Amino acid sequence: MPELPEVEVSRMGIKPHAVGKKITQLNVRQPKLRWVVPAKLYDIEGQIIRSVKRRAKYLILKTDVGYALIHLGMSGSLCIVSEGTMPAKHDHIDLHLSSGQMIRYNDPRRFGAWLWQPNNGSEHPVLDKLGPEPLTADFTGEYLFEKSCNKRTTIKQFIMNNAVVVGVGNIYANESLFMSNIHPKRPAGHLTREEAARFVANIKSVLLAAIEQGGTTLKNFTQVDGKLGYFTQKLQVYGKQGKPCSICGIKLESAKIGQRNTVFCSACQV
Ligand SMILES: [Zn+2]
Repeated sequence: MPELPEVEVSRMGIKPHAVGKKITQLNVRQPKLRWVVPAKLYDIEGQIIRSVKRRAKYLILKTDVGYALIHLGMSGSLCIVSEGTMPAKHDHIDLHLSSGQMIRYNDPRRFGAWLWQPNNGSEHPVLDKLGPEPLTADFTGEYLFEKSCNKRTTIKQFIMNNAVVVGVGNIYANESLFMSNIHPKRPAGHLTREEAARFVANIKSVLLAAIEQGGTTLKNFTQVDGKLGYFTQKLQVYGKQGKPCSICGIKLESAKIGQRNTVFCSACQV
């Protein structure tokens, strides 16, 4: 599943090809994604892309009349191809640009989404109730500490809740909890101020490292087969149940927490 770093790198890959270009045509070959592609999305035709932004795991293509929201779901990906490039299987949507290039969307499992929000003074409902971006100055240890007070939910579920902070997916929750010596089943309300500060710093560093690594694959963006891989940096716990802990050497354990596989060291994480 594309996580925040993959979405951010997609944004970085598309932006230089998209900003300032006119959208000459929208071509939807398969409208049945997670939600049916709204007919209103065709309002984007004839518009100039003013910016390519990201909020949580949504890419936002802004125009003067509204914005398209793109979510990659479980298996979606975007690439830049030349006009006339034959679509492959699962290439569901093309945005034709005045430059002679197209933004092409591929999604084998079709859990992704393309949505439209007209400029009417409000934001699209999917952007409602989202917590701060993890890589901004709004996400601090003090914020997390205050937010966690009296919360009985596990710290792992708490940090993966988009209303608390967006974009901390399963991989990054596993890794940052390990780096912070925090047991994933601990009640969120038991976090100390110092732990919250360390946890926030580690979340930022693990996400930044993934974005940095993903940035090295940007040259693949304009290749038809240039699917961005998973930025599986040097993961310490995710997917490593039964392997020795890199710090103390005992076997890493795993448990389902909120239906998500969680790997941790029961000695290092308390
Ligand atoms: Zn350990």
